[in-house]
Amino acid sequence: MKIGIMGGTFDPIHIGHLVAAETVREALDLDEVWFMPSHIPPHKAEAGFSSDERLRMVELAISEQPAFRTLDIELRRGGVSYSADTMETLTGQYPDDDFHFIIGTDMVNYLPKWERIEDLAKMTRFAAVGRAGYVLDRSVLPEALVEVIDHVDMPQLEISSTEIRERLKDGRSARYLVPDKVYDYLQRSENHAT
Ligand code: ATP
Ligand code: MG
Repeated sequence: MKIGIMGGTFDPIHIGHLVAAETVREALDLDEVWFMPSHIPPHKAEAGFSSDERLRMVELAISEQPAFRTLDIELRRGGVSYSADTMETLTGQYPDDDFHFIIGTDMVNYLPKWERIEDLAKMTRFAAVGRAGYVLDRSVLPEALVEVIDHVDMPQLEISSTEIRERLKDGRSARYLVPDKVYDYLQRSENHAT
């Protein structure tokens, strides 16, 4: 099988994540895309939603696309989530599958700084989707990395979880920036908190 890995903090998940995953699924003819929330180290957790809430919102967001699944491997492992550790486990568990790690161009430029990136680049290809405000600079990437990056064009959606958290804090609407089920969940948890 060809499997896309959509990693992120999803704090909260929004339609930018979903369009990225669906666009790459179609472009690379993936069998499945696994949404994998990363664990946030305790000092960062105060900023947003808990691990359980982030996972729940991902589940709600993808519930109607049978090719999408959630993967809680990094949440269960805890600590700092290094993709190299995760892909080592996954390639061990699924030796016959091909992995495609989906990332926005904001992340691509940082790839050389990722923990054990040389190892990671041997375990997965990367599917890079354009993200508004970020240009991919291939010249900063070593040749070994350029070779494992596939480019996929997607409709540009200038949406970030950071902006959604700001909106929620200010009492502004996040409707349509997140799937309806996530919007309902956010409404309920807000009411619950007050
Ligand atoms: P935050 O603002 O908290 O960093 P985020 O919106 O960047 O949140 P992440 O969970 O950090 O979301 O991102 C997960 C992955 O999705 C990353 O590879 C990121 O580049 C990609 N991504 C996020 N938003 C978009 C978007 N609007 N368009 C394309 N890719 C996106
Ligand atoms: Mg981000």
